Amino acid sequence: MALMPPLLIGPDRLGRSVALVGGRVVAAAPPDAIRLECAQGEIAAGAVCAHTHLYSGLARYAMPPATPAPQTFLQILERVWWRLDRALDAQILRAAALDYVARALLAGTTALVDHHESPNLIEGSLEILAAACEELGVRALLCYGASERNFGAAEAQRGLDECRRVPASPLLRGLVGLHASFTVSDATLAAAGRLAEELGTVVHVHVAEDGADVADAVARGYAGPLERLERLGALPRGSILAHGVHLDPQQVRRCAELGCWLVHNPRSNEGNRVGYALSLGCSDRVALGCDGWDADMAAEDEALARLATIHGDAKAAGRLGHGHALIAERFGSHPEPLQPGSLGDVVVRQDGAVKHVVVGGRVVVADGALSTGDFDAIAADAGGQAARLWQRMANI
Ligand SMILES: [Zn+2]
Repeated sequence: MALMPPLLIGPDRLGRSVALVGGRVVAAAPPDAIRLECAQGEIAAGAVCAHTHLYSGLARYAMPPATPAPQTFLQILERVWWRLDRALDAQILRAAALDYVARALLAGTTALVDHHESPNLIEGSLEILAAACEELGVRALLCYGASERNFGAAEAQRGLDECRRVPASPLLRGLVGLHASFTVSDATLAAAGRLAEELGTVVHVHVAEDGADVADAVARGYAGPLERLERLGALPRGSILAHGVHLDPQQVRRCAELGCWLVHNPRSNEGNRVGYALSLGCSDRVALGCDGWDADMAAEDEALARLATIHGDAKAAGRLGHGHALIAERFGSHPEPLQPGSLGDVVVRQDGAVKHVVVGGRVVVADGALSTGDFDAIAADAGGQAARLWQRMANI
């Protein structure tokens, strides 16, 4: 992606303007800046989804229910997501990613932290995701979640190798992914830490989403998955730990000391009945993710507020906004959105609806419509590929 021409957004109805040069916010627009008018709108920072799975983007297209109905978290993984990920091929993955990204942008979400797995399509899978993100213009952190659960240690090594292949661009950064402590060996965890150090990046991993992850680490002789990851050198500062539902307050404080991010995914946790992540209030480095649900972060934030009230959690507010600092760490930008030096990821809402979306200085949604792709064609293709996916899953 070439550098975007200077852009001046605004003034909005409150008299605010944002100037972008080279894809980032600057104090004042140069005279040749293109104008994006929004006199009736309100300028805000684009939302960040700090943990998701683009590969699940077709689930909205009438995914058949698993039979027999799963009763536990592990059964949900085995009967739904670990079947779906094995059934992915290149066409299905591209369709899922385009549909997911298009809907995210239309909802005002400008950055996605993705965690990808496709055990029968490891090599080249991140290139497919990267191309979809570049094409439609979303900012993304991409990784392959290395695991040994299907084909053993060689599978994990191929997953780690795939993490090397995220093309550098103004919109994309690579992470080193691990599925979760309970599906990898000590050797894979240590290798992930070494690879992150070599690549100058961080690890993205599911941690203590369900009690099963904790029980596995205990059976291996560790206090829990967090302690196992730390002991094996797999938690470089800035690493992204999804969930933490079954971490205690002391462990959450340890995450903060280590400079790690935790990501709360309230809709997913509720849907999977894994519990409410009450201890996360012991760290300020907690962002909000949607874990494969649609990346409408206003809906996720509402779910967080609702569940926080039910569970007496007074420390849950502000997590959506923390995602900006998480993203800024990976892009070397100012952590406060809309400030000079921050990423040029901006949303204009009018009467509560998303009107314009700009990512890295590129207008990706204009007047409520996707401007970087044909949304109807993307959705039609997604529906067709979904039917293929359900057929392939039935044969696994
Ligand atoms: Zn996840």
